[in-house]
Amino acid sequence: MFAITGIEPCCAEGDTILIDPPRIARIGYESSLWHELGGVKRISVDGGYLVPGLHDSHTHLAFSLAVSADLRYVRDVGELIAVMKRHVEKVRRLGYPYVVGRGWDHEIFPSRAMPTIDDMDRVSTDHPVIAVRVCGHLAVVNTVMLERIREWGLERKYPQYIIKEDGRPTGVIVEELLWEVIGRLPPPPMNILINHTIRYLREYASYGVTHLNIVSVEERHVPVLEEALTKVPLVIGLYPHARAYAVVKSKARKAVVCGIKMYADGSLGAETAYLREPFLSGRNGEMLISRSDIVDALDLMGDEGQLAIHAIGDAAIHYVIELVNSLGLRPQRVRIEHASLTPPDVLEEIASYRPHVVVQPHFMISDWWADKKLGKDRARHLYALKSLHSATKVYGSSDYPVEPKNPLLGVYSAVLRPGIGSLSPTEALSVDDAFTIYSRDPCMGETMLKEGARADIAILSGNPRKMSPHDIPSIRSLATLVGGLPVYVDKGFVSGFDTP
Ligand SMILES: [Zn+2]
Repeated sequence: MFAITGIEPCCAEGDTILIDPPRIARIGYESSLWHELGGVKRISVDGGYLVPGLHDSHTHLAFSLAVSADLRYVRDVGELIAVMKRHVEKVRRLGYPYVVGRGWDHEIFPSRAMPTIDDMDRVSTDHPVIAVRVCGHLAVVNTVMLERIREWGLERKYPQYIIKEDGRPTGVIVEELLWEVIGRLPPPPMNILINHTIRYLREYASYGVTHLNIVSVEERHVPVLEEALTKVPLVIGLYPHARAYAVVKSKARKAVVCGIKMYADGSLGAETAYLREPFLSGRNGEMLISRSDIVDALDLMGDEGQLAIHAIGDAAIHYVIELVNSLGLRPQRVRIEHASLTPPDVLEEIASYRPHVVVQPHFMISDWWADKKLGKDRARHLYALKSLHSATKVYGSSDYPVEPKNPLLGVYSAVLRPGIGSLSPTEALSVDDAFTIYSRDPCMGETMLKEGARADIAILSGNPRKMSPHDIPSIRSLATLVGGLPVYVDKGFVSGFDTP
């Protein structure tokens, strides 16, 4: 038993919380709890703002990033070469035999020119180097990597996908060839993946997150995650793909299997979301799942478990609701992931069926081009957070690595709605509502500040209700506790916790 004093609880009266792990014993004022505090260890976190542990209801483990350089923020070819060069040192230390980078976009380079084989040879002339463009359909390689591609017999198999100029390879490879090359890269060694996953969980804890729903889980993720959870024991719900459901279920111990992840359509960025009217370009997505796919997934799960169905376009959302409704599925067993484009009639369908809806407010910043793809009249109906919040139960998430992990960036986006020009300002959430959607998930339910509840809590560095919403992203956790035990402590501000 121990007490944390000097805090301001978000949703209870008092300045002190008494914790008897794994539960909250008391919340109140130190002055009135004195008879219960005798002999109890006290930790002072002066000015800390106590909240229920935060949740990210849709995140990915992103193993590919464990041994890849992150090129998403690279602004020109020179910077790309510099980042990849530093990465050569890292992979040499890790003992990984390839230099892989991901996420560059030459559209934002001043020259708008693609990097070349000569640029990649500047990164290394002895390691194979490959830098994949943000779209995932194109990459640039160095001479060593190109030789490796020849050794694998892939030049003969896909000559058209090795782009040449004046008969000489430019270093650019595309489509199936690229995917086959990626498929041949060895998986990162276990110790690297475990460290990667420990950092992933610890970073979440540093934002006050205690609960994650990890989606698109495969068999290979499970032993790594289970090991990392012995170091950073967050509360984890898993949504594997149908093909991995049985094996993930048999291997998961600390993590709980909550359901199955499915895809009903693609994305706005790639113009593969399924819309009632095509994108302005004329392209459109299509329905990727059928009634029998859903029936098969339900057979796998039996009477328990949720379907987490990715649906972004208005047509995809409509058909998903129609399908699950016609199967007589209880709405608590259905999560719609993203629900990005919801014109009024689709909102009505959501309100009458009431599935869980898992949103990513930070998409509003990343999808700044949405007006151009959809037209302003339609883009107005994107990310209708307030309407969704009043129609059904909504949950906040990041879709990391698509968006940053930090839920406070999600709160900021939900409140201010920056980014896309034509977004409806009336769909903004209040700070309270934004925190509500990040304090629950569809599998584990909600975290609460009340006596007897599990002590899954975070002490934040500031009170978001008393600051400009612009400052919310600067909030950090001073201490994050799961079941009353610290999983993260900012030792610069707080002392006295037995260290995590
Ligand atoms: Zn996702």
